[in-house]
Amino acid sequence: MTTDKAEQRLESRRIQPTAMRLRVLRYLSDRRVAVSLSDLEHHFSHADRTTLYRTLKTFQEHGLVHQIYDESGSTKYALCTEDCTCTYPDDMHAHFYCSSCENTFCFQNLSLPTIDLPDGFKPSYGNFVITGQCPDCAA
Ligand SMILES: [Zn+2]
Ligand SMILES: [Zn+2]
Repeated sequence: MTTDKAEQRLESRRIQPTAMRLRVLRYLSDRRVAVSLSDLEHHFSHADRTTLYRTLKTFQEHGLVHQIYDESGSTKYALCTEDCTCTYPDDMHAHFYCSSCENTFCFQNLSLPTIDLPDGFKPSYGNFVITGQCPDCAA
């Protein structure tokens, strides 16, 4: 992702494009897998943890990224599609957690089947994760 594109992406979600936010966004978009706060800390070793955490939270609050909870125990974040509103069930999709390399993949185009919940249950968010082995680890 170019800096221009990253800037547009932030502005389209009403996020003020600071240098740090641009760098984090570009990192997220370059990675094939979802990232955790500790991935960010390793990559941006000069930035402090609080700044990185706040950056992720801002992205999440503005619908630029969504959270994924997998068996690794640390929350992962993946970029949303440009038209994503993170609503249930329209923007819910499948994720895959590889228990060997502990990478989590976000499959935006694999939408979930509609689930008829019992009366009275009002869903707001769904977190769908399949666990197993990714192609690299299964080979
Ligand atoms: Zn793997
Ligand atoms: Zn996802």
